[in-house]
Amino acid sequence: MGGEIASNPYPLTDFHSLGLSEPLMRAIEPLGYDTPTPIQAQAIPHVLAGKDVLGVAQTGTGKTAAFSLPMLHRLGNQPRRDARRVIRGLVISPTRELTAQIGESIRDYSQHLNIHHTVIFGGVKQGKQVAALNRGVDIVVATPGRLLDLIDQGYISLKHLEYFVLDEADTMLDMGFIHDIRKVIKLLPPERQSLFFSATMPQNIQELADTILRDPITVEVERRSSAAETVDQRVYFVRQAEKKHLLVDVLTAPDVTSALVFTRTKYGADKLVRHLRKEGVRSEAIHGNKSQPQREKAMNAFKRGDLGVLVATDIAARGIDVDELSHVVNFEIPNIPETYVHRIGRTGRAGAEGVAISFCNEEDERTFLRDIQRLIRREVPLIEDHEYHLPLPAIPLDSGRPGGSGPSDGRGGNGGGKRKGGRNRGRGPGTGRPGGSDGNRQGGAPQGQGGQSNGGRNKRRRPGGGRGKPQGTGGQRSDRGAGSHGSGSRD
Ligand code: AMP
Repeated sequence: MGGEIASNPYPLTDFHSLGLSEPLMRAIEPLGYDTPTPIQAQAIPHVLAGKDVLGVAQTGTGKTAAFSLPMLHRLGNQPRRDARRVIRGLVISPTRELTAQIGESIRDYSQHLNIHHTVIFGGVKQGKQVAALNRGVDIVVATPGRLLDLIDQGYISLKHLEYFVLDEADTMLDMGFIHDIRKVIKLLPPERQSLFFSATMPQNIQELADTILRDPITVEVERRSSAAETVDQRVYFVRQAEKKHLLVDVLTAPDVTSALVFTRTKYGADKLVRHLRKEGVRSEAIHGNKSQPQREKAMNAFKRGDLGVLVATDIAARGIDVDELSHVVNFEIPNIPETYVHRIGRTGRAGAEGVAISFCNEEDERTFLRDIQRLIRREVPLIEDHEYHLPLPAIPLDSGRPGGSGPSDGRGGNGGGKRKGGRNRGRGPGTGRPGGSDGNRQGGAPQGQGGQSNGGRNKRRRPGGGRGKPQGTGGQRSDRGAGSHGSGSRD
């Protein structure tokens, strides 16, 4: 890649000094945007100056405004060349939820501008989208599949395009959209400004960026593993078959106000929700098989606080725009360590403290946990103090390394991360907070303990249960690899 890295990472500390137009400033003020986030402070001046930008940033960093505000600024300041509205800005994003969310942000930001936009995604009839396009729009926010459909049908022309934004490039590739993206790129005029955002920047994403961007400025915020440093992480060893019981205990702890539970499959999400509801835990599943109205209803109930628990697959969860999640629960530990970092980054945003809980089964998740610990370079504190504790050896940071211990071969290493001490009686396992995030705390009793003993350890164990074939762990592929994996809202 050519281009330069943005220097002086935080050159500006308030929105006024960014030089955005007055109608935009008036629109963002009521939204409470006083101070640009780091990605905004770094990217906006370059975008305003007409540069291509490669942004390495995760959801939650304010990247939507980082690309939308300067695009709106420039489009708002340039008179339309045509009496008719033509599409001058295109944002493509991987999921319906994210597309809708970006559309909402653009609607908010552009309310005092004479700029029209629309959102385009699959899974719904195209009639309304076509009608909006026919009325004339300046900006289209779209998922790739439906975008190409409407281009093929002659409803969309990109020949007047001035701004192109590719958001969440890594998710796009995960979802198998690479061919669609390449097709879209071929249709773009060469004279354009392009912005490219991705949470991670492995080789294949970098190569894609190189085909789209011209002499870009790279802006990067939040190292990939930074969530691992701020989020309060815990791991529970539990048999696969008993996870659902432990989950009820975890979710009914008083400090759990809003939780996002990750499952590997859509089927698993639905099954879990059925169990949670049976146990009196209000919850909804969000995944690609749910209709748009169903998802919106669940999301709105969650945002209002009427619903405390959402169960989602990885890809569907990317579209969940909730700033204050008290807990993230990995019902299944992902086999891709970066996915773990993405997931736990959903809690503890904007300086709020968050808790990420992972259930580690007796099988391959032990290896996944080992890989995660290596990526984040710390041991995830082990919580033993719960009804379903599976007494397997802790997994030290050096496990599996030459000279280190394997994931299930004894307690080598320093044993750090294993939490000893008081029982967490009566309140369920979610109440304790390890307190520090250094992963080495020992002996500290969780706060808030000391309630009634709930008696009857393992009271919900099924006769002979817990030894059955673990569900959903064998050959876990999460959502990576070629093609669509069905867990997202691919259009
Ligand atoms: P994003 O990463 O674009 O999904 O943004 C995450 C959240 O941060 C959204 O709810 C935005 O409305 C909010 N946000 C973005 N920029 C700012 C800002 N400068 N100040 C306060 N909130 C912001």
